[in-house]
Amino acid sequence: MSKLDVIVIGAGFTGLTAANALADAGLDIVLLEARDRVGGRVESIPLPGGLRVDTGGQFLCEDMPEVMALAKAHGKTFIRPYDLGEIAYQPSIEVEHGDEINRQVYQLRDVIAGIDLADPSIASLTVSEWIDRQNTSADAKSAFLALVTGLWCCPPDEISFVYLASTERRFTNTVTELEFFLAETMHSLADDLAARLGDRLRLNHPVARILHSEHGVEVFCDTDSFRAARVIIAVPPVMTRRLAFEPALPDHLKNALSAWQSGSVIKALVRYARPFWRDRNLSGTVMWSEPQGLYACDVSRSESAPALVVFIGGPLATAWHGRNEDALKGFVLERLVSALGEEARQVLDIHLRDWVDDRWSGGAYSDTIVDVHAADAERVMLSGTASIRFASSELSPSFPGYIEGAIVAGKTAAEAIAGLPSNNHLRMQDY
Ligand SMILES: Cc1cc2nc3c(=O)[nH]c(=O)nc-3n(C[C@H](O)[C@H](O)[C@H](O)COP(=O)(O)OP(=O)(O)OC[C@H]3O[C@@H](n4cnc5c(N)ncnc54)[C@H](O)[C@@H]3O)c2cc1C
Repeated sequence: MSKLDVIVIGAGFTGLTAANALADAGLDIVLLEARDRVGGRVESIPLPGGLRVDTGGQFLCEDMPEVMALAKAHGKTFIRPYDLGEIAYQPSIEVEHGDEINRQVYQLRDVIAGIDLADPSIASLTVSEWIDRQNTSADAKSAFLALVTGLWCCPPDEISFVYLASTERRFTNTVTELEFFLAETMHSLADDLAARLGDRLRLNHPVARILHSEHGVEVFCDTDSFRAARVIIAVPPVMTRRLAFEPALPDHLKNALSAWQSGSVIKALVRYARPFWRDRNLSGTVMWSEPQGLYACDVSRSESAPALVVFIGGPLATAWHGRNEDALKGFVLERLVSALGEEARQVLDIHLRDWVDDRWSGGAYSDTIVDVHAADAERVMLSGTASIRFASSELSPSFPGYIEGAIVAGKTAAEAIAGLPSNNHLRMQDY
C-alpha cells in the first residue's frame, strides 16, 4: 500500500475545501466520505416535478466572502428572498412592540460582543444564567433565549456562555445571513467541488479506526485502509468522538472532544399556490418567542413559486423527532395559520427533513460546547497531534457553524498542513 501525503475524512464543505486546496498544491490525497453523496450538512432533494431544493444549509450573504466567491466562480444564480412587509411576531404583539424587543435583543448581542472572554465572573455560566443577570425587560430576555434556541438548536440552560460569546464575535455580518440562496441549490456547489477531485473522492467509505503516530496514520474503513503522513478529520466534534483512535488520544484532546453536544433541528419546506401573506403586507418572516426554537421565512423562487421555510430547533425538534410525520406537518400548519391567517392551511405540499440524531452529522447547524469549564476546547482541538488535524465548521475562526465557516476551516487546515500561503485575516488568535 503506497503512502499518501494526506487523508481527508468527511466530504462536507470543510473536507471538500481542504481536499481541493491540497490537491491544487500538488499533494497526493484521498477524501473519504461515509455517505453515498457529498455535502454533509448541505444536501438537496428533488421535489415532485424535478426541482431540487436544499434540505440542509442553504443561505449565504455578502459578508461571507468565501462562499460568495465560490458561488460566483461556479456561475450560480443568486435569489434574494422576499423581505418587504412586516415580521409576524408570535404570540401576536403589536409590530412596534416586537421591533422594540428586537432592538433590545440586539443591544444584548452588542453587550456580548464587548465582553472580555477571560472575565472570571462569566467563567462557568450557562447562557440562561448570564441572561438572568442582565438588566433588560422580561420580553427581551425571552426573545433572546428563543433566538439562541433557534440558532444554536440546544437548550440555553446547557450552552456555555463563554462559547456563545466567542462564536457571536465571529459572526461579523452586518446584513442578514439569509440574504441569498442559490437557484441551483447550495448542494450543487458541493457537487462542483467534488467533481474537481475525480477518483480522489471515495464515497461510501465510513472511517471507523485511525492508527496514528508521529510518523503517520493508517485509516480504516469497512473494506479498505489507507496510509498517509497526515490526516485531516473534517467531521463535527461529536462525530469525531465516535472514531476509534489507536493509541487513544491524549486526555487533553479527549476532554476537549467531550465538551461538545449535537443540536437538534428539523427543516420544513411549505409550498403554496399564492404568496398570500404579501396581501397583508407580511414578509413571511415569523418569529416565535413561544414555542421557542421556531422560525419561518419566505423562500419563494419567484412570485409564481411561493414557499416558506420553517425551522424547528432545540428541545422542540427533539420532542418531535421520531413522531408521526403527519402530526408534525399539522403542528407546522397550525403555527403558520395562527401567524399568517387561515389561508396558510391551503398548502400544495410540505417536505420535512429531520436532522435530529443524524447518523453522520449530529443533528443541527453546528455542535455546541455545553461543558462550561471547557473554554479552551476549540484551541486544544486545533492543536491536534503530530499527524492529526481536526477541522470542521465548528472550529472556524470566522462564521463557525455556517458554510462560510466550513470553507474557512478547510482552507486553514490545508494551509497548516501544506505550508500554503495563509489568509492573515483568518488566524485564530484574532478573535
Ligand atoms: C438544516 C440545516 C440548515 C442549515 N442552514 C444553513 C444556512 O442556511 N447557511 C449556512 O451557512 N449554514 C447552514 N447550516 C450549517 C452548515 O450546513 C454547516 O455548518 C456546514 O455545512 C458544516 O460543514 P462541515 O464540512 O464542517 O461538516 P459536515 O457538513 O457535517 O461534513 C462532515 C462530513 O463528514 C462525513 N462523516 C462523518 N463521520 C464520518 C466518518 N466516520 N467517516 C467518513 N465520513 C464521515 C459526513 O457524512 C459529512 O459528509 C445548516 C445546517 C443544517 C443541518
